[in-house]
Amino acid sequence: MNKNEDNTLRYFQQELGDGITREISLSDYTRVGVGGKAKYFYVSSTIDDLTNAIGTAFSLGVPYQVVGEGNDIVPSDAGYEGLIVKNVSSNIVFSPDMSEVVVDSGVGLSRLINLAASRDMGGLEFLAGMPGTVGGAVYGNYGVGDYALGDYVKSATVLMERQGELIIGNFPGKWMNFGPSTSKLKETTSKFRPVILTVRLQLARRRKDEILSLIQDSLLARQAESVGDQRAIRNFFKQPSGKNYPPIDHLLNEAGVRRVRIGGAGVSKRNLNAIINLKNATSSDVWEVAQRIKELVAERFGFALEERVEYLGKW
Ligand SMILES: Cc1cc2nc3c(=O)[nH]c(=O)nc-3n(C[C@H](O)[C@H](O)[C@H](O)COP(=O)(O)OP(=O)(O)OC[C@H]3O[C@@H](n4cnc5c(N)ncnc54)[C@H](O)[C@@H]3O)c2cc1C
Repeated sequence: MNKNEDNTLRYFQQELGDGITREISLSDYTRVGVGGKAKYFYVSSTIDDLTNAIGTAFSLGVPYQVVGEGNDIVPSDAGYEGLIVKNVSSNIVFSPDMSEVVVDSGVGLSRLINLAASRDMGGLEFLAGMPGTVGGAVYGNYGVGDYALGDYVKSATVLMERQGELIIGNFPGKWMNFGPSTSKLKETTSKFRPVILTVRLQLARRRKDEILSLIQDSLLARQAESVGDQRAIRNFFKQPSGKNYPPIDHLLNEAGVRRVRIGGAGVSKRNLNAIINLKNATSSDVWEVAQRIKELVAERFGFALEERVEYLGKW
């Protein structure tokens, strides 16, 4: 550790306590199990912790990124030269009169859906059984068929940079500019990325037994696409829009991606839009598999697929 890094660590410790650590392997924090080390790493259990960690990184000029359950990220083998904050904030406040909930961005979707069901509040059953935090899912406008989480977002509090200062704003759902698998936040190129703190969601009054039956339907519908317990990244590429393209799994099948395997990573046989860590895969293996898939699709159909998932760090 050089003197600069030493001072930075000391400042982080002063602000965040001993919870701040160095050189933590990100492969333990991604579902696909790949990735180098984060220079600084911190787990935030509350929204205050999260705000404080981001504020400290911002004042030090250290790049940062918040992660939830790590289903949608591929950190570089070279690691991340900044602060990774794993967000496990967990507060949920239901307002049955308004059929609304205000939820911390670190809350898991399944926990939210189950707690809402026990209060006769539904609406999000289409997300049943899906992994991920509210923050990650809102950021990527998690969607299934005709339903997307963005349609249920009434407002969100967001920590963001404005004219050199960090501010917390409360913005209506419209401000997020949700699109298929994307949002205004995902499109931001700023070094200091906006962070979702809490989200107000519109739910619907519904009987618990009805909700449980809808949850069951969603779980059954998803079974066919399941990759089981394998370390994988699901929905790797976006469904191409326009030109009435067929569903992406048909495109991938037609392009012949089924047998693509490079190093320890390969395409899932059960779900062609998933890349699996077959054996000791590196991030580069995953990246190369993705590039090969893109080549095959471009050769067959003449257009470039776009990743839905994100590569983190230097590539
Ligand atoms: C089995 C399975 C099925 C799936 N099915 C679907 C599906 O049907 N439809 C679909 O759309 N997706 C699907 N997904 C993908 C799903 O969208 C993501 O897994 C999940 O929503 C991402 O949440 P996460 O907490 O894992 O995010 P992470 O992977 O941790 O983060 C993803 C991105 O969100 C950002 N982020 C996370 N939290 C915040 C925050 N608080 N503020 C700002 N940015 C933040 C991160 O920086 C990162 O860029 C599926 C995934 C799996 C594994």
